[in-house]
Amino acid sequence: MRTLLEVEDLRVDFTVGAHGRRRRLRAVDGVDLVVREGEILGLVGESGCGKSTLARTLVGLQAPSGGRISLGGDLLPRRRPAAVRKRIQMIFQDPGSSLDPRHTVREALLAPLRVHRLADGAGEEARVRELMGLVELPERLLDAKPRSLSGGQRQRVAIARALAVEPDVLVADEAVAALDASATGAILNLLADLRTSLGLTVVFISHDLSVVRGLCDRVAVMYLGRVVELGRTAEIFARPRHPYLQALLAAVPRVGAPIAAPPLEGDEPPSLLDPPSGCRFRTRCPAAFDRCVTEEPALVTRGGALVACHLADRC
Ligand code: SF4
Repeated sequence: MRTLLEVEDLRVDFTVGAHGRRRRLRAVDGVDLVVREGEILGLVGESGCGKSTLARTLVGLQAPSGGRISLGGDLLPRRRPAAVRKRIQMIFQDPGSSLDPRHTVREALLAPLRVHRLADGAGEEARVRELMGLVELPERLLDAKPRSLSGGQRQRVAIARALAVEPDVLVADEAVAALDASATGAILNLLADLRTSLGLTVVFISHDLSVVRGLCDRVAVMYLGRVVELGRTAEIFARPRHPYLQALLAAVPRVGAPIAAPPLEGDEPPSLLDPPSGCRFRTRCPAAFDRCVTEEPALVTRGGALVACHLADRC
């Protein structure tokens, strides 16, 4: 599969007030990622690890502080014109908040077609009905408003609206986190089907390892703004090499259980305002040793995965 989306040394900073001072918080710190055409890449990690900031930066909702994002070989500008923005679309955790409650499903689907001048006249209605078919919603719901839809139906409308502009990449940020188990399974099946039928490329962000395991071709694990392990899903779930991923998997023995605070040194990750020296994971790592305090581990290839740990050779 060819590379479709490429992220190089991406950094995203925020300025926050802390103890009466304004300080820099680096939410994404030097992330390199490649997303291949037609794959579903999972991004996992605890709350605050930077995965949602990375997602918002990919779609252009957040400006990067440094680094590069390329799509199909084209470097994406910091300020993206509409023709560029439509190439990467996003769906969110709560489709209820991203759909205008005053608009019917038909109006929600017509809006992107009109903004991007993708259909007119009879073509609009035909395209709207085609989109309903793509997300397996009955056409009788076209005149419904979001409040009369279930959570799963609202998420299908959000997906249809994102697909209306025929994006190259769909970024799904916790897209099933607010759904019950039945609706979650249905939306995951829909995304898998759309990947097959449309050749859709998806970046799927989740805190739920079992969801990622069932859907994604490859998985990137983030900790405190950085990728610490990346590889094929079957490979890294069968043989997690980074102590953080090992801990996450140990904390999620049951299918469907979300990532809990891992059984590590300290319940919470350190603050991004004061990340630890050396390896950022060292304050919670049961295997930390002297070198981890002073030297940051690089992401290196080990056994088909990329791992950022000084002990990667022993894995
Ligand atoms: Fe643990 Fe050290 Fe590896 Fe970091 S580099 S994960 S602290 S062993």
